[in-house]
Amino acid sequence: MSASLEGKIAIVTGAGRGIGEGIARKLGAEGATVACADVNTEDAGRVAQACGHPAYAVRLDVSRASECDSVVQATVDRHGRLDVLVNNAGINRDAMLHKMTDEQWDQVISVDLTGVFFMARAASRGMRSQGSGRIVNISSASWMGNVGQANYAAAKAGVIGLSRTAARELARSQVTVNAICPGFIDTAMTRGIPQQIREAQLARIPLGRAGQPADVAALVAFLASDEAGYITGEVINVGGGYVL
Ligand code: NAP
Repeated sequence: MSASLEGKIAIVTGAGRGIGEGIARKLGAEGATVACADVNTEDAGRVAQACGHPAYAVRLDVSRASECDSVVQATVDRHGRLDVLVNNAGINRDAMLHKMTDEQWDQVISVDLTGVFFMARAASRGMRSQGSGRIVNISSASWMGNVGQANYAAAKAGVIGLSRTAARELARSQVTVNAICPGFIDTAMTRGIPQQIREAQLARIPLGRAGQPADVAALVAFLASDEAGYITGEVINVGGGYVL
């Protein structure tokens, strides 16, 4: 799959580690200028350096509308446009429904769903005017339901509804919007899962291994490229057959 992104301007949220780091590195390797946006600026700075010039780090908490607006505006001011937005930042706060606190619910909805809305809304304004753009939203296989993840599954299912709606609204401006559902990817998020559950999840993967950030990043790079201009509103699994 070739996907040159030479000259494209991209923002990747949650780029400080894990899947976001993999996406930022891949987009950079394909020639994009990447704004590595994360609450953790130290991590984002390390990733930006690894991407090589001209990637750079920006501080962003996606749960704050004003920060989302500022980061998108600063990107447009600096480069004259924004070509690619990857909404990757996400958290989990797992608990069984009967034990889930208001705080656990609110935190996950704020970052994983409302954050995607804030960033997509901000980016869509400029993309509509320029008549081009790519928005790639990272959902999860958990959107279909997963024990202990009522908050996370609700947020990730919401991301799919948001993506498909945005795809319809932005199509006339030649802006595509797609969602990716990773399965079990080896990052800090999954390393926090108790050993027994982790092993059970790994055993469910037909391809017989955990995914790597690069497995997700390859699809993001393709969807961000000019070659993917006729693909919109899709929800694509990257899970080694996890949901078969
Ligand atoms: P991760 O290793 O925990 O990395 C998430 C990154 O997002 C961290 O750098 C984190 O910063 C940052 N972040 C957290 N809250 C933020 C906020 N409010 N604003 C901006 N950045 C924020 O997670 P991951 O496994 O790479 O997951 C990335 C995405 O893929 C998430 O949306 C996740 O739901 C999704 N996903 C992951 C898997 C998987 O198996 N790993 C499967 C399906 C979907 P800190 O370091 O400060 O926390």
